[in-house]
Amino acid sequence: MRHTIDWTHPDYLDADKLDEEMRRVFDICHGCRRCFNLCDTFPRLFDLIDAAPTGELDSVASADFAPPVEACTLCDLCYMSKCPYTPPHEFNIDFPHLMLRYRAMEFAAGKVPFSTQILANTDLAGTVGKTVAPLANWATKEGNKITRPLLEKTLGIHREAAVPQFHAKTLVRQTREPLSLNKAAPAYGRKVVIYATCYGNYNNPNIGLATRKVLAHNGVETQVIYPGCCAMPLLEQGNIAGVAEAAKRVAGELRPWIDQGYEVIALVPSCALMLKSEWPLILPNDENVNLLGHSTKDITEYMVSLAKGPGLVEGIKPLTEGVTVHIACHARAQNMGQKAAELLRLIPDIDLQVIERCSGHGGAWGLKVENFDIALKVGKPVAQQALKNQNRLVLSECPLAATHIRQGMEKLDSNFVSENAHPIEIFAHAYGL
Ligand code: SF4
Ligand code: SF4
Ligand code: SF4
Repeated sequence: MRHTIDWTHPDYLDADKLDEEMRRVFDICHGCRRCFNLCDTFPRLFDLIDAAPTGELDSVASADFAPPVEACTLCDLCYMSKCPYTPPHEFNIDFPHLMLRYRAMEFAAGKVPFSTQILANTDLAGTVGKTVAPLANWATKEGNKITRPLLEKTLGIHREAAVPQFHAKTLVRQTREPLSLNKAAPAYGRKVVIYATCYGNYNNPNIGLATRKVLAHNGVETQVIYPGCCAMPLLEQGNIAGVAEAAKRVAGELRPWIDQGYEVIALVPSCALMLKSEWPLILPNDENVNLLGHSTKDITEYMVSLAKGPGLVEGIKPLTEGVTVHIACHARAQNMGQKAAELLRLIPDIDLQVIERCSGHGGAWGLKVENFDIALKVGKPVAQQALKNQNRLVLSECPLAATHIRQGMEKLDSNFVSENAHPIEIFAHAYGL
């Protein structure tokens, strides 16, 4: 069982105590090195130690710990998939949450610049972006030689990084009317709240629209709710109090629905991970947060549970082309198996290639001018594999990962044209919806 994050304890932000813990954990990692190829954090750490005068941690200055920490995207993979020393092992290692603690200390010390903090306010960006969508999309478009250098200078967003586009009509606005339900479907009578997520609400409502259609076709009633962002970008910056505030607000607003028998599904795996895991670890005694954590499923996880439980409505048509699906780190970190692939395999005769490796994007982290090239480097094996597959359709449950893979593929072969989509959109298409 993962330990809760003791962020309100006075020792949590104590520089000496944190340094002691960093040295303890880094020394174990130095002797282990299993995670050498997961991301850029571990190579930076091991290079640092190997280049030290003694070749050991004792001759590494604490000030030099910053670069490995900065490379961590909090993807959780080292904890979930590699580390044999997580609790209850006596070594008691939770590497991602140690990186988070370091960042929390930096945040508390005022070291996160205002321009970086603005990037984490997805609701502000979404509210402004939707009202001036054509202008915002023109200004942020890849290749805009006038505005992108300006954005790089002011907000630190790399001029080549693909940034999410805005929609004038949010998902919530497009889903006020109920859809008619298929009363003959085996799952008829079930009801879910779709937590729109900031990305699903402001940037890509199509994921939620496809989800709603597929669920209505299968007799499931849906309500689309968006009380606010899950605050994953704040977590990346070490603003744990900000995350706690968002968790309380969202969990409080979703509670009445859960009490009425609704399950909750999140449209993006990072958001599902926040609701299921990070929030209960940050607020372990909050009843609403814990209830929400237990009531939440990723959209692909929910669909597979329908298929395995009451069953899905028949009539899924084969696809005429091959599909590559990427299993996102935050989907893997939910320990639920390859649900996106399981869902797509319900499409008859599908020619499916699965890639389960980090795409490298790392959320807002990968957009930043100092990280974009590292993000492409980390994601290069995925881009290479996707190119080798030669499928036009490159899917991921994580939309930012999908875009990042497309950019990586374009860097390797500018002539290859790929298209990104969420697995549920392809599933809706296979249903003819
Ligand atoms: S959480 Fe992810 S990015 Fe951070 S150290 Fe672990 S594997 Fe690397
Ligand atoms: S996080 Fe665990 S598995 Fe990874 S290098 Fe450190 S000790 Fe080894
Ligand atoms: S994890 Fe989800 S809700 Fe949170 S910022 Fe990302 S898309 Fe938005």
